[in-house]
This record gives sequence, C-alpha cells and structure tokens, in this order.
Amino acid sequence: MKITNVMYLPSGRIFLINVDNYIIEATEMRDVSVDGKQHIEVRETNDPHVIWKHLVEYKEKWLLTVSTQRGCTHSCQFCDVAKLPFRGNLTQNEIEAQVRLILENTPHVKESRKVKIGFARMGEPAWNLNNVIGAMKNLPMISNELGRQFRWLPCFNSILPRKADCISAVVETKERDFKGFLHFQISCNSTNEEKRKELFGGADVLSIEEIIKQINNINITKRTVTLNFIVIDGVEVSVKKLKKMGLNKDKFTVKLIPLNNTLIAQENDLKTYANYSNYEKLLQLRTSFEQEGIPVVVDAIAKCEEAGLCCGQLAQIFQ
Ligand code: SF4
Repeated sequence: MKITNVMYLPSGRIFLINVDNYIIEATEMRDVSVDGKQHIEVRETNDPHVIWKHLVEYKEKWLLTVSTQRGCTHSCQFCDVAKLPFRGNLTQNEIEAQVRLILENTPHVKESRKVKIGFARMGEPAWNLNNVIGAMKNLPMISNELGRQFRWLPCFNSILPRKADCISAVVETKERDFKGFLHFQISCNSTNEEKRKELFGGADVLSIEEIIKQINNINITKRTVTLNFIVIDGVEVSVKKLKKMGLNKDKFTVKLIPLNNTLIAQENDLKTYANYSNYEKLLQLRTSFEQEGIPVVVDAIAKCEEAGLCCGQLAQIFQ
C-alpha cells in the first residue's frame, strides 16, 4: 500500500492510495468554525485565505476518513464511488494502514481532544463489519505506537443494507468498547421509502421505521444515533412522518446535508434542495425539526472545497 497522489484542499488533504493496483481514498481535514455572519463568508468564499482564518486547532478537533472497500457494491444515485468498479473488501490491516499513513504524513499533530474518523470514504462498512470494528478498536493502539495523544471518535456511516444486519453489533461496540463515544450515522435521505430505495440504486435497506423501532429498544448513551438526510430538490423529508414513526429525541439526532455537486448526481438530474444561494431554506427545514423538539444539525461545506470532498471523484480520475 502506498500513497500515489495527494490533493490539497484549503482545510486538508485527500490521499490517493494504491492497494493492489486499485486506488482508494483517505482524507485528513481540519474543521472550519462557522458562526453567524462568518458562516456565510466561509460557505460562499472561493478564497482559501478565508477558510484558513477559521480553521479549528488540531488539538480541539481533527477529521479523518478511511475507505473500507475497493469501490462499493451499491449504486447510490448521489455518490461517485458508485461509478468505480467493485474489487472487494479491504482487510483490517489495510484499513489500519490508511490510519497509519495519515498519521505518519502529519507528524505535527501530536495531540487532539477529538479525532473523528469516518469509516466512510469508499465502501459500505456494513459489508465489512468485522474488519471495520476490529480497526476501530485498534485506533488507540495505533496512535499510542506513533506517540500521539488522541481521543478517538470513530464514526460508522451506513445505508444499513437489510442483509448486513449490523445495528446491534455497532451499538454494542459503541457502548461496550467506546463507552458511548462512537458516532453511528445512518443514511436516510428521504422519508418516502420508495424514493429512498431509488436513491440507493435499488438497494434493499432497512426502512426508517424499522431503524427507529430497533434503536428505540436499545440502550444508547452519550452520542445519539444520527439520521442523515442529504436534502434533494423534490425529495420528501417529513418531520411529521418521523414523529409518527416514534423518533425519540433521546436516541436520535437529525443531520441535514446539502447534496454535493457529484458527477453522478448530475447524471441522475439530482439537485440540492438548498445550499449556498438559498441557505435559508435549509435553516427553515432545521426550524421545522426544532419546533417538534427533534435535535437537528446542518452540515454544509464551503463552496471551494466541494469538488475534492466528494467521495470517489478523485479516485475516478486517478484509477
Ligand atoms: S453512498 Fe455509500 S453505499 Fe452508496 S455508493 Fe457511496 S459508498 Fe456505496
């Protein structure tokens, strides 16, 4: 495994890594602090200097992602990984090696209160569960070996394919091994199940109602489970439906994310519901969740980082 290319964004880097002649991606980014007026400035700028001014210190937060598969078996209509060929799971060693590569190439980051690592760059981690969970558990060992003082926050991001049946294993790892300090994020994207299936390229995934039922019956501490909605023009996101399904504010948070301008989204004629020019629409949607007492966050990225941040886009170029 070796790095073949490194692409720079204002807030971090994307590593293109060759594993047995297949290019996978891993990333390291700093968070961008955004408040009030600065938020608009940061979101809409094309000037990296503006981003640099608002970067969060590594010692506060550092954001990493690693790939879990060579490509992905799914064909989500919004994700450029779907355009790459699928060449199987990465081993636990190969997942851990990406973490080592990032750390070795960032020797100046010695300590951090929160290193959030998404096992979600390329691949659906539910299909590689044991290797992903094994790698998560070894994170403290890896950082100790490399002389870093990190508090890890692993993130398991999944569309929850029905047959992969991973909810209990992920929650058990969260509660038992990470004392609740693991972020479980579930892709939802629409409250209309037919539309969801279409967006996931026909994948047989657990319905949101089934997800809510299962999670409501499990003990969840510290980090709540996040239901991610990439907001797409003309695609239903109904707060009322979610309430009716039993969405419990002590177990769940909703995250609203503008649709990135991916190549495949363009091909499928998907447009974001809101982003840079009409950001207030996103805030209105946020308010409708807040009014129902549902914890909600908005996760928008800066315009000038959008291209490189889309999973699988660079790998396509360098394959
Ligand atoms: S969103 Fe996830 S599951 Fe869907 S194609 Fe991309 S990597 Fe695969």
